[in-house]
Amino acid sequence: MSNWKTRTNLVHGGIRRSQYNEVSESIFLTQGFVYDNAEQAEARFVQAGDDEFIYARYGNPTVAMFEDRIALLEGAEDAFATASGMAAVNGALTSMLKAGDHVVAARALFGSCLYILEDILTRFGVEVTLVDGVDLAAWQAAVREDTKLVFFESMSNPTLEVIDIKAVSEIAHAVGALVVIDNVFSTPVFSNAIEQGADVVIYSATKHIDGQGRTLGGVILGTKEFIRGTVEPYMKHTGGSMSPFNAWVMLKGLETIDLRVRAQAVSALKLAEALDGHPKLERMIYPGLKTHAQNDLVQRQLGGKGGTVVSLDLKGGQEAAFRFLNAMEVAVISNNLGDAKSICTHPATTTHQRLPDEQKAELGITPGLVRFSVGLEDADDLIADLLKALESA
Ligand SMILES: *Cc1c(COP(=O)(O)O)cnc(C)c1O
Repeated sequence: MSNWKTRTNLVHGGIRRSQYNEVSESIFLTQGFVYDNAEQAEARFVQAGDDEFIYARYGNPTVAMFEDRIALLEGAEDAFATASGMAAVNGALTSMLKAGDHVVAARALFGSCLYILEDILTRFGVEVTLVDGVDLAAWQAAVREDTKLVFFESMSNPTLEVIDIKAVSEIAHAVGALVVIDNVFSTPVFSNAIEQGADVVIYSATKHIDGQGRTLGGVILGTKEFIRGTVEPYMKHTGGSMSPFNAWVMLKGLETIDLRVRAQAVSALKLAEALDGHPKLERMIYPGLKTHAQNDLVQRQLGGKGGTVVSLDLKGGQEAAFRFLNAMEVAVISNNLGDAKSICTHPATTTHQRLPDEQKAELGITPGLVRFSVGLEDADDLIADLLKALESA
């Protein structure tokens, strides 16, 4: 199995078959597991062996299949599946931090991640320093001897800034800090975050891994020692584990993720090329474009792939952005991403509404900004829809 290439692992990796030898993965929709006798129950509570299960909050065969398969895709030793992306972020951070620890994080973060850092961790005596993630001098200045970990989104939402994983990892490792990355926008298909230096990689599986907008899930990836020694005890006792049903949906998602995400990225590049320099646009952001300010880094870190999201900044602010959103016929207005359906979002009034205006401005979340998650529709239909909507704006 270890010699298989990615596409093969995505279809067969991690498979566990029951006595019926079913082709498709079974959903082991059970909370618990029966022991042959009392001695076996006692022994399992002392130390569960590989593929021995106790209770679904601790682990489950369907969930284990998902964990093994995503670990193969990411090139990680092990993985722990969680109830949502946020359960993964919270689990990774909270399981290893204690009062008195210092954390450095990039300022451009998903709103709920910022809440964990600024509102929760600080309540328990963790000190958090936020920096401009693309400014390597700022990371260098912020890390200290007592910095326990650094945290960032490798590609930021919604302005698609790319953070240099290798360079930040070198800065963090020099003071003995772990590198924890929220890797959603880079996608598990284009990521080689661990190879670049990341210690822990987190995904919201709700996005590209499900890929069809059905279930919530998340995953924490890292060394066997970190996942089983630090993350698992925290997650299994605090209750953020993934349900077997959701793990089954995510397994089905993994079978097609490589095909889907590559097709979405091809369309995203076509869209970006078609819209680049459009007179109704103040700015068009797509990291896969050769003209993107960080394209060198995108080449090095993501094999030149810019991901599946394009962000557009319309001239005429919120009114123009709303006219544009309301005129769209193929893409729907919603707030997920990585879905088969194209989804457009107005971050300033939805996902980032909570932020004060100065902070929005600092993060480039202008009133005219629209985030467009490219789906699996025909790219020509999407381009026609976008151009028509731009006329209405
Ligand atoms: C969606 C998202 C999350 C949260 O994931 P959920 O599955 O919604 O809990 C965290 N980080 C990023 C970058 C996301 O896009």
